[in-house]
Amino acid sequence: MVIEQQISARRERAHGSIVRILTRPDGNLYGDYSVRSASNRPYRVAMRGPGLFDNYCSCPDFSVNTLGTCKHIEALLARWRRRRGKALDHEVFNRARASLSLHYGDTLNVRLRLPLAPSAALQALAQAVLGIVIKDEENGSGLAGKRLS
Ligand SMILES: [Zn+2]
Repeated sequence: MVIEQQISARRERAHGSIVRILTRPDGNLYGDYSVRSASNRPYRVAMRGPGLFDNYCSCPDFSVNTLGTCKHIEALLARWRRRRGKALDHEVFNRARASLSLHYGDTLNVRLRLPLAPSAALQALAQAVLGIVIKDEENGSGLAGKRLS
C-alpha cells in the first residue's frame, strides 16, 4: 500500500515536472531523452517501456526511491498516453545492446536485458558471469534475471 501511494504521489507531481525536452530519440518513442526539470536541472531519462522498472532517470529521487519510476518518467508516460492513447501499447523499444541492472524489492535481483537476438558470445558471457542461462522464450521479452538475496 505504501508503495502504491508513493507511485501515485509521483504521478500527481508529474504534471509540470518537465518544462522542456532538450533531446529525444530520432524517429522512435522509446529511447534516451534529456529533459529540463521544473527546478531547472537537466536529467537523462532512458525510456524503455510503460511499466515500473522499465525506465531510468538520473534525478536524485529515482536513485533512492526503489519504486522503478519518478515524476519525470511519469510525466513522459502521461504525455504519451494523452497523445497516443491505446497506440502506446504497441510501441516497443528496439534494444540494440544488453544492459545489466539491480532490482531492489522484497528481494534483490540482477536483471539482464537483452537485444532481440543475443549473440552466442553474449549468451556465453551471461552464463559465465551471472550463471544465467538464456532460454529461447526469454529472447522475445529481452529480460532474464537472477535472485541475489
Ligand atoms: Zn526523475
